[in-house]
Amino acid sequence: MIRSLCVIGVGLIGGSLAHSLRRVQYCQEIVGCGRNRQSLERALALGVIDRFETDPAAAVRGCDMVVLAVPMGAMRSVLKRIAPALAPDAVVTDVGSAKQDVIEALTEVVGEVPAWFVPGHPVAGTERSGVDASFATLFDERSVILTPVSHTDPVAVQRVHDMWESAGAYVTTMDMARHDAVLAATSHLPHVLAYGLVDTLARMSQSDDIFAFAAGGFRDFTRIASSDIEMWRDICLANREAIVSVLDHYLDDLHRLREAIHDGDAAWLQEVFGRAKAARDRRYSGGTE
Ligand code: NAP
Repeated sequence: MIRSLCVIGVGLIGGSLAHSLRRVQYCQEIVGCGRNRQSLERALALGVIDRFETDPAAAVRGCDMVVLAVPMGAMRSVLKRIAPALAPDAVVTDVGSAKQDVIEALTEVVGEVPAWFVPGHPVAGTERSGVDASFATLFDERSVILTPVSHTDPVAVQRVHDMWESAGAYVTTMDMARHDAVLAATSHLPHVLAYGLVDTLARMSQSDDIFAFAAGGFRDFTRIASSDIEMWRDICLANREAIVSVLDHYLDDLHRLREAIHDGDAAWLQEVFGRAKAARDRRYSGGTE
């Protein structure tokens, strides 16, 4: 049980966590924090939070669990504001999509990675943002990855683990560098590709026809290009090394595919498409989702 949960950033992820913990009455009180009073009043009206503050230092005062659910680019400034105001028994965790950058921010602000900080990342989301997009079942049977460092307090890890399990998620622990490399490949690269493809096509002279006659496959492939711009800009900056590494790998393979199409190399196309289909079908039991 959490006595007083502070969610800084009551948007899609922070709002959904609050919703899902409310569902199982896991917190005696949920305090919201953000910059914009209107969206916090909306969160209050929706019953996501019990009260709110616009000052992060005031919001965390007396709370035993603090969740940072702000865009990656805002983590540093929020950490700076809350660090001196935390209660002695407070555990702090975050939901940022890249972990090494949050740890660098923390080291910069606090001077070291404190034992009370448990880096985390729920691997769940939608292309929508804000508290109105939040819902109680977002984390049901989805993964949450925790990336504690060697001296993170095991009791703090357990408390964050229990919180996410109560929100419906499966919790796993992973090395931070591995997390950033894996997520660069499975989440960050697809977003970069979707944004890049839609932008390229939108700037072509026949773009009206392209979008008018796009079928379901195009919509499926590009759905995530409707995601929040600020958030994805920040994620690309926060995890740039890992993203560039997997992007370079992909570009090499894409060049080879381009050559095969240009040269009419049916065998190569068949080989690549066959390998890809087999790999995807193995994972997702065949067909499209
Ligand atoms: P969101 O819906 O836009 O919510 C972000 C919230 O943060 C907003 O309510 C915003 O409210 C608040 N905020 C922004 N800057 C702030 C600041 N300086 N101080 C205090 N509050 C601030 O975004 P989200 O999708 O929930 O993403 C939040 C975090 O979750 C990001 O770090 C992202 O990497 C991570 N994440 C996202 C997904 C996903 O699919 N969306 C999945 C996993 C993890 P105000 O404008 O009122 O300040």
